[in-house]
Amino acid sequence: MKLKIGHLYPDLLDLYGDRGNILTLTQRAQWRGIEAKVQRVSLGDPLDFSKIDILFIGGGSDREQDILVEDLMKRKQEFKAAIEDGLVVLAICGGYQLLGQYYQMAGGKKIPGLGFLDLWTEAGSKRLIGNVVVKLENGLNEQSAQLSIKPLETLVGFENHSGKTFLGNGLASLGQVLYGNGNNGEDGAEGMHYKNVFGTYLHGPLLPKNPHFTDLLIALAFERSGSSGKLAALDDQLELLTHQTMVQRILNRS
Ligand code: GLN
Repeated sequence: MKLKIGHLYPDLLDLYGDRGNILTLTQRAQWRGIEAKVQRVSLGDPLDFSKIDILFIGGGSDREQDILVEDLMKRKQEFKAAIEDGLVVLAICGGYQLLGQYYQMAGGKKIPGLGFLDLWTEAGSKRLIGNVVVKLENGLNEQSAQLSIKPLETLVGFENHSGKTFLGNGLASLGQVLYGNGNNGEDGAEGMHYKNVFGTYLHGPLLPKNPHFTDLLIALAFERSGSSGKLAALDDQLELLTHQTMVQRILNRS
């Protein structure tokens, strides 16, 4: 079995150790005997979206987002087709913002997003910074259970963004914020979920702190590829204890 991971703009969208998500996806696949291949794709590099199983886009500063947006727009049609065909996507913060209609930056400049998801981002008067705990919405736990992935009720990470993202009516969040700001610090929602596309403000990196979410992404990619097998369980006692400890310590401060 092979897992092909596309990493968009690894040299630009590389804030706060988000490459740790690639390392975690790769490692949790390899621990199961699955060969994981990573294709790094930056400005001007070719990418055939139909040839990858998971696409990862990390976070970045306003400056980097402005630099890459023209190149990203050139990929719009293929990217949209792949998403509608069930491509698994994990987009963190700046990468997440670029999936939407636009990002109105703190300095006043407005850059376009890919526009195929009904969300938009506008910089607030202060940066939203700190730990975040999210109670996952039920659909994700049900999806995990159907794929024989141990559903955990929470996601944990940290946020550092000036952009405040708002979801249109047709989009589901990843869940409700138990601690922190999430999408915008106003409506209590964090992240976005559409088909197999997941957007979130959680850095950490996200996946090492949330092994169950890593497995959900891998399992969805295999389900889409037609593989009938279930992901072998790993001995995650330490990972899950670490996750729970982080969640409790953050919530006990609230
Ligand atoms: N530049 C964007 C913002 O400030 C995204 C930041 C990030 O990726 N952490 O909101």
